[in-house]
Amino acid sequence: MITPNELRQYDYCPRVIFFERCTPVFRRETARMEQGRMAHDRESLLEHDRSLQRYGLHLGERHFAVILANQALGLSGEIDLMITVGNEAYPVEFKDTTRDINNGHLMQLCAYGLLIEAELGLTSPRGYWNSTRLRETQVVEFDNKLRKRTLKAIKEINDFVSAERFPAPTPQGGKCIDCELINFCGDVR
Ligand code: SF4
Repeated sequence: MITPNELRQYDYCPRVIFFERCTPVFRRETARMEQGRMAHDRESLLEHDRSLQRYGLHLGERHFAVILANQALGLSGEIDLMITVGNEAYPVEFKDTTRDINNGHLMQLCAYGLLIEAELGLTSPRGYWNSTRLRETQVVEFDNKLRKRTLKAIKEINDFVSAERFPAPTPQGGKCIDCELINFCGDVR
């Protein structure tokens, strides 16, 4: 099973997943990754004492580090925070970034929503994306278009990983310049 985080990586470049899943190539943690991981952990701790105001909610129950897996979806992952209100549940993702939300983030969050619905029997109409640096929260609606895009990406990743098929490189060649995997991609320079 793939993880929602891999949907974000897929949107960046499918080959990142291929190298991690299908080859012995070791991708070392960069200083930036380590910094992001620490900020992420710090934010999860702080969230325990906050109100739900930033989510536009008055009432709700917080659940931290929710681990879910669903065979039919081919997905498993850990949700930073899940807020439940009645029979609805909203996943929350923290990101240590000043950049705006992108398609990979949207699919990652939507994948958590799909997991919640499949495994917990709750409805997940939307999620929240927190930029911990900008102190901004964005609402992400899980509409049909996003759900279809996310399901299609999950299938494509599972297909090339199970077939051990080397996927095409990212069409945005600029990403390759700073990529630590460039020495393993012979067809991009
Ligand atoms: S070098 Fe380019 S194509 Fe290869 S993994 Fe990195 S971003 Fe993807």
